Amino acid sequence: MVALLLDFLRLLGLMVGAVVAVMLLTGLFFEIMNARHPERRIQKDRVNRRKWKELRQAPISILTLSVCFAFGLFAQQQGWSLVPLELSWWSGPLMLMISVVLYDAWFYWVHRLLHSRVFYRFHALHHKSVAPTVWSNHHESFVEALLNQAYYAIIVFVLPVPWQMLVLQKLYDQISGMLGHAGFEHFASPAGRSPWPLASTVFHDQHHGTFRFNYGHTFSLWDRWMGTLHPRYDNTLKSFEPSGNEPDAPESRAPERP
Ligand SMILES: [Zn+2]
Ligand SMILES: [Zn+2]
Repeated sequence: MVALLLDFLRLLGLMVGAVVAVMLLTGLFFEIMNARHPERRIQKDRVNRRKWKELRQAPISILTLSVCFAFGLFAQQQGWSLVPLELSWWSGPLMLMISVVLYDAWFYWVHRLLHSRVFYRFHALHHKSVAPTVWSNHHESFVEALLNQAYYAIIVFVLPVPWQMLVLQKLYDQISGMLGHAGFEHFASPAGRSPWPLASTVFHDQHHGTFRFNYGHTFSLWDRWMGTLHPRYDNTLKSFEPSGNEPDAPESRAPERP
């Protein structure tokens, strides 16, 4: 039992170290990109100086996500979960794709739940940043982090996904989560708007700016199906593309809370 616990703690330590390293590298990358391209700021009339306040919450967020993720991997390693498919040229990409699609649905509905009257108290901290920064990604309560990241503790019991693909997905989540909060649209492309399914930085930035649109993560599909897509999303993203229109009017200055 003690040996089992020590094994888990070793995995957890590795996970925390990896997340912190990826967070710092990604954050540094966006700090440099943002400083070089001030014209790409999404909410032109708002500047967020809450970076250090946001970072104070990061240890709780990182520890929670690391425990969930390490538990998923550990459960699989110990044979407590479904036996994963052997990694191959087809099983890896297929399992990864299914898991990304499933997590997007999980994230959308957990996020909708967090905006309900009962649960908003756990999400209010994250919404203190109306104009998010790359560091807002980890500015969340313990309950919010747990609800979102529980996916990684559960998925190994539902999907026979090889652990290497879960690591890739987590790496993608970490980087794309920070990208979504960067506050600057550096990668505007037609793939992020209709008829394509991907989201963008503008997508989640509008969520923070308005509190009531764009609840999804990787894709805009759930928001399009459920009628929660920001009405100017496609046009605003287009305005950041090199051949786009003039930028849209700034988002509503007095956001509505749920
Ligand atoms: Zn929200
Ligand atoms: Zn956010």
